[in-house]
Amino acid sequence: MSNDYSIIANQSILFTAIRPEIVFECGKGMYIYDIDGKRYLDFVGGWAVNCLGHSPAAIKKALTKQAGLLVNASPSYYNKPMLEYAKLLTEATGFSRVFFASTGAEANEGAFKLARKYGTKFKNGAYEIITFNQAFHGRTLAAMSACGKEGWDRLFEPKVPGFIKVPFNDIAAVRDGFTPKTCAVMLEPIQGEGGVIEAETSFVQELRQLCDEHGLLLIFDEIQTGLGRTGKLLACEHYGVRPDIITLAKGIGGGFPLAAMLTTEELNIFDPGDQGGTYSSQPLAMAVGMAVLNEIIALDLPEKAGQMGAYLIDRLSEIKGRFGLSNIRGKGLLIAFDLPEAKGKAIVDTALNKGLLINSPRPNIIRLMPALTVTEKEIDQMIRILTKVLKKAIG
Ligand SMILES: *Cc1c(COP(=O)(O)O)cnc(C)c1O
Repeated sequence: MSNDYSIIANQSILFTAIRPEIVFECGKGMYIYDIDGKRYLDFVGGWAVNCLGHSPAAIKKALTKQAGLLVNASPSYYNKPMLEYAKLLTEATGFSRVFFASTGAEANEGAFKLARKYGTKFKNGAYEIITFNQAFHGRTLAAMSACGKEGWDRLFEPKVPGFIKVPFNDIAAVRDGFTPKTCAVMLEPIQGEGGVIEAETSFVQELRQLCDEHGLLLIFDEIQTGLGRTGKLLACEHYGVRPDIITLAKGIGGGFPLAAMLTTEELNIFDPGDQGGTYSSQPLAMAVGMAVLNEIIALDLPEKAGQMGAYLIDRLSEIKGRFGLSNIRGKGLLIAFDLPEAKGKAIVDTALNKGLLINSPRPNIIRLMPALTVTEKEIDQMIRILTKVLKKAIG
């Protein structure tokens, strides 16, 4: 990083994160380049966001075209890409109604409010939502209140009340968490930030049954797992379960700020003013979302993610014995493995030096979430660099 940029970074950016001393300038496909022209193979993928890779032609084309037509119209009017995209997204996912937002946390806020609205209208004012240990749902105050991240229960008190946390994959604990005030259960089908922890099929199916018996809503946060990432368009398809509400963000915009909350016809119950947002259904975002989804469908990216994920797991399995890696897991291109020691940070830093971006959601876990367009060749290249990195860090 040049001196000038270093000074700005240290003096002008509000400190919220420890970032490496590099500045990214451009990207293409699986590669991202810093201002010194150094190339990095990107297996972070904008945090499971850049499903089509860096700077895909489809997004450039959609943005350029829409920017020349209409950038913003106000959320109080319909706009053309909003209606066209709503049709495409609801048809593709099998849901009936969609609310658009800009970030995952905002989509989840919409889901909390819809669940509380349901409780108000149909369940005597019930408002409690059961969520899970290690869960991640975003960083607004309500979303943080829904999270089960260790240590967060003590942050920014007092929290938004009404989120009851129970152990993941434990159906008895969910049942014990029910009170007359419960209106919904919310989970990530695969806990991403928690370290790629998959919900068990029997657990998800029993949850659906339990929610039906008690008249509770089942909410899936598919912000990380949605739109092809796990090898299906929606991760709920792996379980043969239909949630009442799902939230999408990250990959849905391929890097453009876009999120959605999808639900059923029965839950079309908001009154005017209950929910909204200046950038809800913003035309540029709608045009990009439509282009990204069309590309996901046209290139059959869920299927490809499944194939490439299986290939990636095979390649990791080849080196696992040598470095004591264990528990290689995940679905599609949301993959993680455990390290023999808590050296995640050192491994991420060494990989960065060697031109590879990977992520360590916990000190003993490495997570990989590349573009859904990743090729076998790029996976081979990643394995080569990772092998060198592990040799250095673990021996
Ligand atoms: C990233 C993420 C969020 C938060 O999304 P933002 O766009 O950062 O607000 C919520 N839930 C899950 C499962 C996520 O992975």
